[in-house]
Amino acid sequence: MPESFDAIIVGGGHNGLVTAAYLARAGRRVLVLEARELVGGCAVTEEIWPGYRVSTASYLSSLMQDKVVRELELERFGYAVDAKDPAFFSPFPDGRHLFMWQDRAKTLAEIAKFSQRDAEVYPKYEERLERLAVVAESLLLTTPPRFPPRAVDLPEYLRLVGKMRGLTNQEIVALVKIFTQSASEFLDEWFESEQLKVTLATDGVIGANGGPRSPGTAYILLHHCMGGVNGHRGLWGFVRGGMGAVSNAIADSGRSREVKIRTGAPVAKILVRDGRARGVVLESGEEIEARVVASNLDPRRTFLKLMEAEDLDPEFVEGIRKFRSEGTSLKMNLALKGLPEFTALPGDSPGPQHRATMHICPSVEYIERAWDDAKYGRPSQSPLIEMTIPTMYDASLAPAGRHIMGIFLQYAPYTLKGTNWDELREPYSERILDVIEEYCPNIRSIVVERQTLTPLDLERRFGLTGGNIFHGEMSLDQMFVLRPVAGWARYRTPVKGLYLCGSGAHPGGGVMGAPGHNCAREILRDR
Ligand SMILES: Cc1cc2nc3c(=O)[nH]c(=O)nc-3n(C[C@H](O)[C@H](O)[C@H](O)COP(=O)(O)OP(=O)(O)OC[C@H]3O[C@@H](n4cnc5c(N)ncnc54)[C@H](O)[C@@H]3O)c2cc1C
Repeated sequence: MPESFDAIIVGGGHNGLVTAAYLARAGRRVLVLEARELVGGCAVTEEIWPGYRVSTASYLSSLMQDKVVRELELERFGYAVDAKDPAFFSPFPDGRHLFMWQDRAKTLAEIAKFSQRDAEVYPKYEERLERLAVVAESLLLTTPPRFPPRAVDLPEYLRLVGKMRGLTNQEIVALVKIFTQSASEFLDEWFESEQLKVTLATDGVIGANGGPRSPGTAYILLHHCMGGVNGHRGLWGFVRGGMGAVSNAIADSGRSREVKIRTGAPVAKILVRDGRARGVVLESGEEIEARVVASNLDPRRTFLKLMEAEDLDPEFVEGIRKFRSEGTSLKMNLALKGLPEFTALPGDSPGPQHRATMHICPSVEYIERAWDDAKYGRPSQSPLIEMTIPTMYDASLAPAGRHIMGIFLQYAPYTLKGTNWDELREPYSERILDVIEEYCPNIRSIVVERQTLTPLDLERRFGLTGGNIFHGEMSLDQMFVLRPVAGWARYRTPVKGLYLCGSGAHPGGGVMGAPGHNCAREILRDR
């Protein structure tokens, strides 16, 4: 007799694993089917060169929900994060640099190097952002209300409005504005120094299909301020053991409650009979039945690749076709035999700059111009570059004396005009090193290995449609009650028993476990 399951989770990304662990915690028999040989999806640690354990996709943690960490006892299963300090290091072409530290007094002294006025305003800015982030954060573990609403949904909408209790009128106005403003407009209201504004603006465009002057990017900036590390709001940190340690902790938590996980098990089809999900067919042809199927795959992959159109409502299929999920991010991973030496802060022995996220983007206009290229199907000639060296916090990730560097880059559009990523991968990798070389002349001499993951590679390797790192753009028209499509933002789908548990559902992308958590709650409600 084949083993029987109450629920099958298609995809073993961290969200799928969270859904599985919560269902098992409620006594359900759960099977996770993961296409790759390892679980974690975009939160993985892979030994891509002997002795180097690399977070090949996501690289920093902050958004992971405390509730999930606590309830799934992730620390017991090895989850630990070291908060970055300093948070940021921005070198500038004129030879100056800006650090942002955990210690506010040190940060203010850094900002004062560029503007005394900005240093005075900064604490108020942080306080405002924190108060807004608390409200936005309270929505993360909330199932969006039905939309368009009916009269019976009024109490749910009132509860949402109630979350703004305690905000002043000025803060309510700021909250509404932040959902529509650009990161640049938002920052211009506070600061005068270009160096501070560009350092903060980077959070507004990470993963975005837009420049710092595109409406909606202010919200992405807020999205990146929502989490924290070890109870300290707004901090980002390195997961010990790399990002795969998050996923492995969730998987082990699930296994401790009898979740079964199969890797190397790509799902070819979600089975539907009489309008109900009945199970899945693997690429090998094996059929597995279950009354509940939850897909951790992005919405386009789930509904347009794994399902037959006739099993779905045509209007819904049309909505999914319109769901935008082309990415503009590129990841490069390097193995280094030394540390980068910055012209703006000489020295190649370990220094605070190497412990920070190191930015290459001298001005807001620079990022906007980088976006201009992408708008017309070209990778940015002068891209926004974020560099991190996790081995500064966890030396076990590389052989003794060696380092890993993660480079996250915007903008590398998935769809290129007149060429393709297989042709452009190598020349563009060289261009990236050229740009870094302008700030760190020794970079080429310390690189021993290099892996470039273009948006096409992100699609091929991690199954991200269009290479979008969030399973779909995080623009206002694809958020909350509209994610992935209006009327279907509550983790359910038009097929009974079929749910979405990945980042294509509210509240979107990032290693946070929220969609997985919320989906499990809705599945259990329906049962
Ligand atoms: C380059 C990059 C950098 C990022 N940096 C950060 C960061 O620093 N911090 C942060 O918080 N977030 C970051 N993100 C975003 C974050 O990693 C993702 O939003 C999040 O990990 C997605 O998790 P998920 O569980 O929803 O989906 P995924 O991780 O995408 O998991 C989906 C799983 O489904 C599997 N799958 C696909 N097709 C099939 C199939 N047919 N059958 C079975 N399995 C299948 C995939 O292999 C994958 O394991 C980054 C993402 C990328 C790509």
